[in-house]
Amino acid sequence: MITKAYAALTAKDPLAPFQFERREVRPNDVQVEIMYCGVCHSDIHQVRDEWGESIYPMVPGHEIVGRVIKTGKDVKKFKAGDIAGVGVMIDSCRKCKNCRQQMEQYCVEDMTGTYNGMERDGVTIAQGGYSSQIVTDERYVYHISSRLDLKAVAPLLCAGITTYSPLRYAGVTKGMKVGVVGLGGLGHMGVKFAVSFGAEVTLISTSPSKQKDAERLGAHKFLLSTDEKQMKGSDSYFDVVLNTISANHDYEKYLNLLDLNGKMLVVGLPAEDPRTRPFALIKNRRSITGSMIGGTKETQEMLDYCAEKNIVADIELIPIGQINEAYERMIRNDVRYRFVIDMSTL
Ligand code: NAP
Ligand code: ZN
Ligand code: ZN
Repeated sequence: MITKAYAALTAKDPLAPFQFERREVRPNDVQVEIMYCGVCHSDIHQVRDEWGESIYPMVPGHEIVGRVIKTGKDVKKFKAGDIAGVGVMIDSCRKCKNCRQQMEQYCVEDMTGTYNGMERDGVTIAQGGYSSQIVTDERYVYHISSRLDLKAVAPLLCAGITTYSPLRYAGVTKGMKVGVVGLGGLGHMGVKFAVSFGAEVTLISTSPSKQKDAERLGAHKFLLSTDEKQMKGSDSYFDVVLNTISANHDYEKYLNLLDLNGKMLVVGLPAEDPRTRPFALIKNRRSITGSMIGGTKETQEMLDYCAEKNIVADIELIPIGQINEAYERMIRNDVRYRFVIDMSTL
């Protein structure tokens, strides 16, 4: 099926209009007409080949919300007309111990990403959500409550689950002291979730101008990470620090903020490797825990939680023609707090 899209043809080119073919609907597939697609910093990392091994042509986008227009004959979860979401993962082996626990993002044979990789047939390049439609096995498609503002739901499919999952895993609850580092797409969702779990939340930011927004999002305190005195004053204070930084930085600076048994939850993926001295780790028996998006079960749980608590992203809606400018603005740290593409402009 001919599908309109925007794609990068090389790491140096801006994104431009593109066409490709999606497969016909198989028995377990859902065909979704895409209404909105969020713009994640991972899109920029991959379009510009900052992590290496990028595959072109690349249609990015893994924060997808749309309407089901067709279902395969064996599909059980969806019917035409349903509002549905697709996130960062569209397949996995489905057999390994992690897949069987519905933690398919940790599939021992590696999950299949929504774009910038091969599908499991080994020949088709997976293409993402900056496109008119997507065809995916129903296992990796989620129900979305139509009570929520759908354009602001799109970022939940990556920024939402990527912050919800580690905060849950760390057992964040009432009374815990949580620092969220970086107020971008991920960070602002991290603040909202940690606040909703009852924690005392501090935004740790390089941008003094974000203090007011942090308060509006529910953060209780603000720490300017470029102010050494302020950072020293919060030494060994936090139980959990959620690190969403997209650019190169020192882990040590943020590890020093952790109290006894404190955990730094790493979700940010800068192109260069951050550094730390082991001394910053052994003090207070600190640990660093990585986390990748969330599995299918937890993603649906997060979406249902957001529907119940009325949690969505703060977004700026853009036409697809502004995508290259949006990337530049994200790199300049000029997004409040997620760009979402109105796919009807394609
Ligand atoms: P984003 O919207 O661009 O936000 C990144 C934030 O990092 C900025 O708003 C800024 O916050 C802070 N920052 C930027 N440069 C910094 C620096 N040099 N030092 C300290 N802080 C800096 O990006 P995003 O979409 O939230 O993504 C964040 C990272 O998570 C990316 O690397 C992305 O690839 C990764 N990611 C990982 C997963 C996963 O599964 N683990 C999933 C999605 C994304 P302040 O202005 O507040 O300082
Ligand atoms: Zn993402
Ligand atoms: Zn597996």
